[in-house]
Amino acid sequence: MVKYLQDLMAEIDAVDLELVEEPDCELQHNDQALGDLPEDLKKLYGLKTRLRTEYDAARTQAVKEVKEIDSNKKREKAIAVWDNKLTLMSIKRDAVDKLFWTAVRHLFPDHAGAELIGLRSGWKVVTTDASCDCARCQTRKLMDSLTKSIALRAITEEL
Ligand SMILES: [Zn+2]
Repeated sequence: MVKYLQDLMAEIDAVDLELVEEPDCELQHNDQALGDLPEDLKKLYGLKTRLRTEYDAARTQAVKEVKEIDSNKKREKAIAVWDNKLTLMSIKRDAVDKLFWTAVRHLFPDHAGAELIGLRSGWKVVTTDASCDCARCQTRKLMDSLTKSIALRAITEEL
């Protein structure tokens, strides 16, 4: 079996469900509830949210570290190291995110063609007509677009 997938499986299995935070988005106006998210996918959800948190923390750390380096040469080197690390973290985060929503759509094949599928508090899977408009989701969306579009180099060049 592909080693990368094997490692990923082990990582999903190792997720402690006690530590997985339930989504706190309330049901919205045009949500149609499809059913509850099963336990195994709660683990995948847990990994997905953890990878996001870890990436955000690593990126903040990278900016802080790089900013503290006085020598240009050393800074260039640090940026290169962080770029590799952050790239791996972000593509894994995105792959696990995609995997999660792929698995959710497979759970509800009769609704797989829905434009938007979401997750609400109580682990309810819904089809919906707009992304969640709660403050937390909106902030997250904004943060994602910011970190996606601004390269580490661009941030540190402002020094
Ligand atoms: Zn929300």
